[in-house]
Amino acid sequence: MMALKRPTHRLIDRLPAVRGQLVEAAPLDRLTRFRVGGPAEVMFQPADCEDLQSFLAAKPADVALTVVGLGSNVLVRDGGVPGVVIRLGRAFARIALDGALVRAGAAALDLNVARMAAEGGLQGLEFLSGIPGSIGGALRMNAGAYGREIKDIVVQADAVTPSGHLVALSADELGLSYRHSVVAEDWVFTAALLSGSPGDPVVIAARMAEIQSTREESQPIGGRTGGSTFANPTDAAARGRKAWQLIDAAGCRGMRLGGALVSEQHCNFLINEGAATAADLEALGEEVRRRVYETSGVRLSWEIRIVGVPRAQAVGGPR
Ligand SMILES: Cc1cc2nc3c(=O)[nH]c(=O)nc-3n(C[C@H](O)[C@H](O)[C@H](O)COP(=O)(O)OP(=O)(O)OC[C@H]3O[C@@H](n4cnc5c(N)ncnc54)[C@H](O)[C@@H]3O)c2cc1C
Repeated sequence: MMALKRPTHRLIDRLPAVRGQLVEAAPLDRLTRFRVGGPAEVMFQPADCEDLQSFLAAKPADVALTVVGLGSNVLVRDGGVPGVVIRLGRAFARIALDGALVRAGAAALDLNVARMAAEGGLQGLEFLSGIPGSIGGALRMNAGAYGREIKDIVVQADAVTPSGHLVALSADELGLSYRHSVVAEDWVFTAALLSGSPGDPVVIAARMAEIQSTREESQPIGGRTGGSTFANPTDAAARGRKAWQLIDAAGCRGMRLGGALVSEQHCNFLINEGAATAADLEALGEEVRRRVYETSGVRLSWEIRIVGVPRAQAVGGPR
């Protein structure tokens, strides 16, 4: 990764005027589930879609863009994130039902989308109730659980390109596969059209309650964590074993580094016990990868998105 040069002038002064909010050195630790990491050089919260489009159309081309949703799958490094971090707010959180379709803004919580569908007697979206993210993050990650994923329910997604164009993408164009979309990382999802099918609200509610209790038993859902750290491997050396099985077999359950812990409850989860730095969490994850490779020959890939720069290259200089 390129070292961040000490800026000769402030980024915020080079950015176009907006109706929403531009905040310099905006803390990101409180916006991610891990509760670690340095600030955004500038954080942009657009007032609405037009504000986002005109900002992107007018911003200097060399300014890096990073999008964060609810921060449930992101590890922000201790030096923060250079460039502009975009976070969609309330203007993008609307949810509306139209027959068997649900139109949801990218900032809508997955849980609220599942609840709205359930209240409208739509089944097939229950799995979203167990995923603690937003629809934007769910599109990017093709979020899924209990045998279903966004790919199964998405009809269309709206996105704004880095040059400010609003485009409608079909399900095919999203190119969704296991925890992945082919859409470029600097495109910002703004909304999705999801489909369900008519069902009995009582049965749907019972399914959602079951999902909730299964999660509480099997995952440290209340902890400072980013969910599954590594994707389940597909290479032959894994012989069908899931990431957690390989981690367990490598003896990593309960392993600690600084304030970071490999969860005892679900060993594919990393936990910030309170005083962890992003560097602790990343180094612990890398140690898990090393041990898994040593014991099984499988190279685990991070599912968690790691963004930003280490403390030595901190945004605005070392702190
Ligand atoms: C306790 C726990 C349990 C979890 N269980 C599951 C599970 O069962 N299944 C599962 O799939 N995941 C799970 N996750 C991971 C996570 O919740 C999902 O990946 C979720 O979809 C991320 O959404 P987010 O809004 O938090 O995105 P973030 O974590 O903020 O971002 C994730 C990625 O999405 C991108 N992104 C976010 N919003 C947008 C947008 N509007 N436009 C473009 N890109 C965007 C970011 O740039 C980043 O690359 C779990 C996490 C936790 C903490």
